[in-house]
Amino acid sequence: MLPTTDVEAESGFDGDNRRRIQGPINMKERLSNELASANAFSTPDLLAWAFDRFYPRLALACSFQAEGSVLIDLIHRLRGGDFRVFTLDTGRLNQESYDCMEAIRARYGIEIEVFFPDATRVEDMVRQHGMNLFYDSIEQRKLCCGVRKVEPLKRALSGLDCWMTGLRREQAVTRNHAQKVEIDHEHGDIVKLNPLADWTGRQIWDYIRQNKVPYNRLHDRGYPSIGCAPCTRAVQAVEDSRAGRWWWENPETRECGLHVKSA
Ligand code: SF4
Repeated sequence: MLPTTDVEAESGFDGDNRRRIQGPINMKERLSNELASANAFSTPDLLAWAFDRFYPRLALACSFQAEGSVLIDLIHRLRGGDFRVFTLDTGRLNQESYDCMEAIRARYGIEIEVFFPDATRVEDMVRQHGMNLFYDSIEQRKLCCGVRKVEPLKRALSGLDCWMTGLRREQAVTRNHAQKVEIDHEHGDIVKLNPLADWTGRQIWDYIRQNKVPYNRLHDRGYPSIGCAPCTRAVQAVEDSRAGRWWWENPETRECGLHVKSA
């Protein structure tokens, strides 16, 4: 969690009794002004600010979609190999996502931290509900996402003050209010950066082609958005980019719980 008073800022995030100031001076306003300013930065400037501000307590969450490839390339230009990338391996990914992961490891020479779901929780879930429970109801689909994605993400974020994602406003109705800089109340009030929030799909693909960035080959087969194999399919050109994710549900429910915003 970020410090919200000068006392916390002065003494580290745990707080102690070294109170040199008469009463805690609230830093929330200062912090929110800083974050609001950062929200107006260009993507490279925002990344540079984030590393100055949070390194080493920040990491990129990557699911080996086009946006993740762009961010890795941008951060590599800024940091060389000196940054953290993690991914959530749900156990139900496409082979193409692993191929992309390996291509990125080879191109940039970086380590990728892989977080797996808790094996006992997966075993209990599939014993009770079957391997394809996600097709039976929204509740069971969310249960599966909870076990395979949300809980591992909590572990991945523990100890961080900032995480970065490839989320873009254009991707879906559930994302069109995304800011470049947000406070993530679901994960202990840490900072969440969406450096590509205002990028269009065209900008993403221009960047990939111009810089010959490795990308997930499912994108060439009609998959604008890529998740787990049984829950993702190719889409028609007229459909929105996340129409192939949990396509049997209403668009308003099509999030996995990784990007929940609480009031
Ligand atoms: Fe389970 Fe599908 Fe969610 Fe993957 S996307 S965690 S398979 S429900």
